[in-house]
Amino acid sequence: MKTIGLIGGMSWESTISYYSIINECIKEKLGGLHSAKIILYSVEFDEIEKCQSSGQWDKSGEILGDAAKKLESVGADLILICTNTMHKVFDQVQKMVKVPLLHIAEATASELKKAGVKKTALLGTRYTMKEDFYKSKLVERGLEVVIPNEDDMSFINHVIFDELCLGKINEDSQKEFCRIISDLKKNGAEAVILGCTEIGLLVKQEMSVLPVFDTTVIHATKAAEIALEA
Ligand code: GLU
Repeated sequence: MKTIGLIGGMSWESTISYYSIINECIKEKLGGLHSAKIILYSVEFDEIEKCQSSGQWDKSGEILGDAAKKLESVGADLILICTNTMHKVFDQVQKMVKVPLLHIAEATASELKKAGVKKTALLGTRYTMKEDFYKSKLVERGLEVVIPNEDDMSFINHVIFDELCLGKINEDSQKEFCRIISDLKKNGAEAVILGCTEIGLLVKQEMSVLPVFDTTVIHATKAAEIALEA
């Protein structure tokens, strides 16, 4: 079994999900007492968020690259950056190590394609929804992407950083996310990508009028599959 390196802590609330999903997958595939080989490097999220909000992406890439190098040096065979937003510095981090990094948007696009989706809604931080680094990975793979309006994007971004990353699950926010998903369906979306690793803590399939593609589940499950490949 390959060893999975996780660059987590962004936020740690969602890193818990990665740890448990990967282990559930290995348990399901191998049974008994089997569990995943995981090395976790959990960063200080306040440092990373300050880099994001001040536009110091290179600096944040250095921090994650340094974490990747440490994971590689202690035996990680593949590495995951456990946040959608920080895939903005994916190439910078990949250049710093020899072992492969598993791209969250590429893994997600391939699941949407398998399901026959052509037009998808995307929810995430304002960086993920507005900028091109993430959407381009979906568009290159033939998907059309719809995003919420400005007000709804601000609201989603606020809920991510001021509630979900702090472990707060608020029922009113849950209802509002469901309303936003319904609006995106009216705009032609056939599915919704939970393109932030904490949104799955708030929005569940049974509440959503669109099929949900949770990037945390997709990313973690794909890592477990790769870990078991010969
Ligand atoms: N975990 C979130 C994501 O998937 C947001 C935290 C961050 O800014 O990295 O984008």
